[in-house]
Amino acid sequence: MAQPTTPPDTPSAKPLMVRCPSCGLMHAYRTDNPYRPFCGKGCKAIDLGAWASEAYRVEAKPSSEDLPDDL
Ligand SMILES: [Zn+2]
Repeated sequence: MAQPTTPPDTPSAKPLMVRCPSCGLMHAYRTDNPYRPFCGKGCKAIDLGAWASEAYRVEAKPSSEDLPDDL
């Protein structure tokens, strides 16, 4: 469900802007950002927390092996 938004008229000189899935903030997509597509560490933690507690109601401890790849 996470489709990157592509502005219709973005000059190639500017960095690719993406919307943070967590807070909705537009930020530059950087390959050196370890938290992409999130804007930062906090948003990534928030999103993962919401996914674990609300979306799937995980009772046991979170396991990276159970994370789906089709996000
Ligand atoms: Zn964010």
